[in-house]
This record gives sequence, C-alpha cells and structure tokens, in this order.
Amino acid sequence: MVYDLVIHNGTVITLNEAFEVLPKGMVCVKDGYIKTIEADAPGQPLPPSMDTLDADGGIIMPGLINTHTHLPMTLFRGLADDLPLHTWLNDHIFPAEQKHIHPDNVRYGTLLGCAEMITAGITTCCDGYFHEDHVASAFSTTGMRGVLGQGIIDFPAPGVPDPSQNIEAAVSYAKTWKNASSLIKPSFFCHSPYTCAEKTLVAAKHRASDLGLLFQIHAAETKTEWHQFEKEHGQTPIGFLEHLGVLDENTLLVHCVWVSDGDIDTIKKHGTKISHNPESNMKLGSGISPVAKFIDAGIPVGLGTDGSASNNNLDIFQEMDTAAKLQKALSKDPTVMNAASVLKMGTIGGARAIGWDHAIGSLETGKRADIVIVDMNTPHLIPVYNPVSHLVYAARGSDVRDVIVNGRFILRAHQCLTIDVETVMEKVKQISKQVRSTNGLNHRK
Ligand SMILES: [Zn+2]
Repeated sequence: MVYDLVIHNGTVITLNEAFEVLPKGMVCVKDGYIKTIEADAPGQPLPPSMDTLDADGGIIMPGLINTHTHLPMTLFRGLADDLPLHTWLNDHIFPAEQKHIHPDNVRYGTLLGCAEMITAGITTCCDGYFHEDHVASAFSTTGMRGVLGQGIIDFPAPGVPDPSQNIEAAVSYAKTWKNASSLIKPSFFCHSPYTCAEKTLVAAKHRASDLGLLFQIHAAETKTEWHQFEKEHGQTPIGFLEHLGVLDENTLLVHCVWVSDGDIDTIKKHGTKISHNPESNMKLGSGISPVAKFIDAGIPVGLGTDGSASNNNLDIFQEMDTAAKLQKALSKDPTVMNAASVLKMGTIGGARAIGWDHAIGSLETGKRADIVIVDMNTPHLIPVYNPVSHLVYAARGSDVRDVIVNGRFILRAHQCLTIDVETVMEKVKQISKQVRSTNGLNHRK
C-alpha cells in the first residue's frame, strides 16, 4: 500500500485503552484514517507514501478536543474582566452581543477562534452560540472538526429576535447542517436552566433527541444558580434538569461546579457527559468543580476553555495544567488526579463527552487521522523523563508544530494552511474599534 502520509521519528502517545506509548514510533495514514501505528524500524526505509513528516523527536499525539467554546466571543476578549458571572453577563456580554453579533462579525470571530485553536493543537471543538449557521459556514472552511450548537435562550437573541421561534430556528439550522459536512455535527445549546423556561428546555431536548443531536447546556455553574433552584423548585439545578427529563447520554452538562454527591449519582445513572472548564470557573469566581469525583464515578469528562471573554484564551494545554493543579489544591492531595488522567480529559475523554469517541480522541488503527505533533526542542521541555507529564505540566499551545485533521494538514511547521490569519486578525482589530466605541461599553475611561 502507498500511504498518503507517514509520520515518524517521534514518541507516539496513543491514548488507547491500554495507554500505550511508543518511544520511537510511526503513524501511517490513508484516506483520512490511521492505518497502522508501529515502532520505527532503524535502518529500514519508510513505507511508501505520498508525503512524510519527520517529528524530529517530538510527540505524536491525538488532536486536543475543546468541549466548550463560544467562538465569536473572541471579539469580546478582555472587554470586561474581574466581574461576577451575572454582572458580567447582564451588564456587559448580553448587551455587547445584541449590538455586535451579526453574520459578518460572527464569521471573523469564528475564524480568529479557529486560528487560535489550530495553532494550539486543538482539532475538534464543541461550540454553542447564536447565528450558528454563520459559525458553521466559517468553521467549515478551516478543516477543523466540530459539534456546533445553535443557541436557545428565552429572550431576544442575535438572529432570533422573537424568542418564541428559538427552537424552530435551531431545528432549521440543524437540518441544514446535518449532512452538509463529515467534519461538522449540528447540535442544540440551551444557554442555561435559568435563561430557558421549563417548556423550552423540555421541547428543545425533545427535538434534539428526534434529530439525534447532542444537547448542550451550562448547568450548576454558580452558587447564585444553586440557591435560585433551591428556593424556586426545592431542587438542585441537576435535580431540576433530571426532573424535566433532559438528562441522558446525548446531553453535555457544562461546568457542574455546584453539585451534590446525589447529583453525581444522577449524572452517572443517566449516562450524561460533563465539560469541565476550570479556568472560566476560576476567572468568574464560580468555584471548583469536583471533577476528580466525576472521573472516579466513571462519568465521561472533557475539558473546555469556555468563550474567550471568560478565560481569556482557547488553550487546552493551559486548561490541562490548571485542571490538575486545582484538584490537588482543593483536595490537598497531589495524587488525586495524575497527568495521564488529565491528558485523557483533553483527548479521549473529550471525544466521549461529545459522542465522537468511535472516530477520534486516540491514535488507533481505524480511527480518523486527527494528529498533532508537539515540538520538544525548546528549553522549557528539556529534559524529557516523562512525555505525558510534559504535555500536562510544561507544554504550551505554541509548542504545537503540525496539526492534521482527517488526514489533511491544517497547520504545518507552525503555518496555518486553511485560514488567512493576518487578514482575520486585522479584521477583528477593526471590529474591536466598533465594540470599544459603543455607548455604555466604554467602561475603560
Ligand atoms: Zn459557556
């Protein structure tokens, strides 16, 4: 067989069930799939292939998966910081979205977010926002893989001025994108149990199930939300969602900071998945999600950055480092979550969380070729005693040299091949001038 691509001379971290690591290995790709993974044969010629990539002693690993983004929010990066979630949302983000989120801006915000993720080794993301049809059209030009959710909220939103139409708008979007691209899966993203009415949540989940879509929702994020549901319903936010029947294996709960031990049992019982966003939770002062308990319970957990207005970057390497250290600090036990379990959250755990683990999340024969090469020839990654430790505790997004999705290079030698990054950055700088000059938002006197 003549392969399309042979990647060699690197440490292959497979993330397969046995967590196999090949100190010097080779990955062969054909028609977008991984065909073989084997040890390099010193002195032997490489198998015949159309293209080869010398990893130069670096790490060959599965693409990182960002399980929670709001891509166009790159436009609001650093617009309002150091505020509690509800003030941040109601006084800054929602008004900014009403004024500035329209199709053209959504396109450039999405492309900027994709450029940032690609250059940091993220091959797949799970997004939720408004005008998601425009997110999807921009996203589809980048070569990335994504679960892209149309936002549903019970007040006028960008693209859906009449909230009574919010579910129909999501259905129409999902039908358009359902079979449009093998790299994109449409989804529904209900903003939260406190911004969507019971009937909206129930109807949205029902329609998502009919269409076979992932249902995403921010849940149990803050103490305020916890107290609100306790007062109004006598339930926890997770208990409330269970009561409505929206918890099953096609639901992704984002955050889960404020959860009881009973809630963890509930999530486990329904096969529901979790997106853990430690930096967003820290920055908004929401608290610390008991993610080690989720993992111990066997709940699929992926990592997410959240939107770049609440992080403020889209770097899963940083998120892995933070996730590990935060659990250690919380439990005062350095053994509570090791590097391997955190790397799993960033890869195969993320794939499970978004329901795509049959195809991505690990380097295994028969899976899609979503592969990242990390350059290890840099001072902060030398020496290497344990490459898994380095990926979690020492590497940065900028150490990623090459990114392949579905067998196709989208980053090669640090150059993004699918996005005109200079033009996109310039365009977003122009958009930021409009955002800055908007009355009521110019809080930086
Ligand atoms: Zn979010």
